[in-house]
Amino acid sequence: MTNDHPPVPGQRSGADARTPGPDVGGAGPAGLPGQDIEAEWSRAVKILDGATEICLACHVRPDGDALGSMLAVAHALRARQAAGRDGTAKLDGAGQQDGTTGQAPPAARIVASFGDLPFEIPRILRFLPGADLLSPPDAVPERPQVMVTFDAASADRLGILEARAARADELIVLDHHASNTGFGTVNLVDPAAAATAVLAFDLIRRMSVEISRDIALGLYAGLVTDTGSFKYSTTSPRVHQLAARLLQTGIEPGVVAHELWDRSPFGFLGLLSAALGRAQLEPAGAAGHGLVWTTVTRGDRAVYGLPFEVAESVIDVVRRADEADVAVVLKEDDDGCWQVSARSKGRADVGRACVALGGGGHPLAAGFTAHGTAAEVMTALREQLATGPGAPGVTSASGVTSGPGAADGGR
Ligand code: AMP
Ligand code: MN
Ligand code: MN
Repeated sequence: MTNDHPPVPGQRSGADARTPGPDVGGAGPAGLPGQDIEAEWSRAVKILDGATEICLACHVRPDGDALGSMLAVAHALRARQAAGRDGTAKLDGAGQQDGTTGQAPPAARIVASFGDLPFEIPRILRFLPGADLLSPPDAVPERPQVMVTFDAASADRLGILEARAARADELIVLDHHASNTGFGTVNLVDPAAAATAVLAFDLIRRMSVEISRDIALGLYAGLVTDTGSFKYSTTSPRVHQLAARLLQTGIEPGVVAHELWDRSPFGFLGLLSAALGRAQLEPAGAAGHGLVWTTVTRGDRAVYGLPFEVAESVIDVVRRADEADVAVVLKEDDDGCWQVSARSKGRADVGRACVALGGGGHPLAAGFTAHGTAAEVMTALREQLATGPGAPGVTSASGVTSGPGAADGGR
């Protein structure tokens, strides 16, 4: 499992001082520039209240934040329906402070998915309750009435669900990437939030649904994934307050950590050994801040019969090299494309470099998709990193074909 960071080291959400909530010190993202975020939240809740069909989608190759946030909201929508059917109120104390009526919403068809084909839930996330709530992407209607996206900074991160999102009557975007393009009809985007799970919690609270264990597990998985188990600088008081609120439901943090970080097939040890054995340190790389990089090829995985997702955690070991501010792992997927993970310890802005190569992410954690040889991909990335923070980006001259988004400057 890899982790992604929000943008600025040490930055704190302006949301910390917002309307007090029942127990977590209030929520509500700062929103996009010029946006009345409270009005945006009200619109989102109203749209969901009136919907008879709600499609949820998170980014491709989902991580704990993407899938955990989406499953938490799926559980909440289901609980809300059940409460409506039984005529029972399941309020969490937040009540109708956002102006909603509190009346039971109409019965809605709920479909949750992500745009990967083949459609496979990453093994390390299979402990999350709610696999029965997930459907393959072709079960998502061609023109959804309401669609909600999770942890996707741009529409192309929805994979084959991108076209359906574009056709949705209403598209509610829940995300925390600074590079978010605002591709929804309702954009709930807070770059200062430690995880999309923080926004998903806000949405659930505003729908007045009680935080069950199933909901809490999804949100907690998102929170620990994106804060690197509360290690990264985004770990604000509010993050711990939210974690405390989630733990109150009785979920076990040790079990979550074990599932996310402490399990691998035996073959992973061999794969890790191969990848670490060919890691290269370039002290002059990344504008002199140091670069360490390696690859995980299809061949490495084939030796041990391992799926692509096992390559995701290699970056967490490679980034330990003290001599390098920037760590990079080129992971070859089953189609022969490179899925590149980049991390910075704070000197370099890997988000900018990856956006320039058609990808996205945060300044300290980002990625992109590329074709070509590993050497060509690294040449292109070196060029981007060489300019250093704040310097204007350079256009790759290496001939590497990067993923979608490069032509328009990424996201
Ligand atoms: P990862 O290295 O896969 O954990 O991703 C780190 C961050 O980079 C996440 O915030 C992702 O949203 C972003 N990211 C990774 N790969 C891509 C890609 N191919 N396109 C856009 N964003 C990406
Ligand atoms: Mn993510
Ligand atoms: Mn995230």
